[in-house]
Amino acid sequence: MAKMIDGKALATKTKEALKQRVADLKNKGITPGLAVILVGENPASQIYVRGKEKDAKSLGFHSIIDRVPATISQEELLEKVKNYNNDEKIHGLLVQLPLPKHIDKEVITLAIDPQKDVDGFHPVNMGRLFMGDPLMIPCTPFGVMRMFEEYNLDLSGKEAVVIGRSNIVGKPMANLLTMANATVTVAHSRTQNLPEVARRADILVVAIGRAHFVTKDFVKKGAVIIDAGMNHLENGKFVGDAKTEEMDQVVSFITPTPGGVGPMTRAMLMEQTVIAAERRV
Ligand code: NAP
Repeated sequence: MAKMIDGKALATKTKEALKQRVADLKNKGITPGLAVILVGENPASQIYVRGKEKDAKSLGFHSIIDRVPATISQEELLEKVKNYNNDEKIHGLLVQLPLPKHIDKEVITLAIDPQKDVDGFHPVNMGRLFMGDPLMIPCTPFGVMRMFEEYNLDLSGKEAVVIGRSNIVGKPMANLLTMANATVTVAHSRTQNLPEVARRADILVVAIGRAHFVTKDFVKKGAVIIDAGMNHLENGKFVGDAKTEEMDQVVSFITPTPGGVGPMTRAMLMEQTVIAAERRV
């Protein structure tokens, strides 16, 4: 039977460990500051932002949630970003995605100070990660790497397959796995014979956004399955991209949904804010 990688428990442990680092910073007169700009009233974004606020407050951060109407102009939003870039009390800054159509996401991402870019989406941070010298790392793949560490899953020389090539999950995940000396294949919607490609994997990371797409035909015996997918079904259930229940007897480790990658993503955002504040010292 597969061992569950308990993301919820690891996220709690990660945040507990951060408390001491926050206390050390406060002793030096620095309170980690996280500013989140939420544009409009997208229901999913509101839930994510509330989660971030809760985590930030429970860790004793200086937490700002800046809620602005969907009608805000790009120039006004840029002005806000600029103000937080210049605000000494703010160490981490993110603009919750998605943004309304009249605002260019790339322009906003580019305006964030790379040193404060706790989402790790700025091209400077993407580029540094690509070059093997990361400053800020996208939180989902960062959290997945922490899972491998926690469960002593050695990546060196292993075959890793990442399904999905987005800038926020698939690509940075592939980079981090390469840095950890795995041999990485990146698969996507044009990949031929996807189940066959996936069956090569000792480590299979799935980030597609299609409920239960990855079945037991995609996995080889003993593989480690990391499922980053988050899909809401019409019946209200929340499921991943992998049909984990039918893989249980085949694979060695597996992440649940919910309670797997999601909580770690949140925890790594907090850790990255602390890291940004520590760099200030
Ligand atoms: P995205 O930007 O939509 O990218 C999806 C990727 O999956 C694309 O590269 C796409 O390929 C690939 N894909 C789509 N259909 C496919 C198919 N039939 N076969 C193979 N590949 C296919 O999504 P994302 O932002 O990376 O997110 C992926 C999933 O992770 C979503 O469920 C999202 O909610 C979840 N997520 C979770 C967290 C978390 O905290 N747990 C954070 C971020 C995202 P092409 O490039 O060829 O189109």
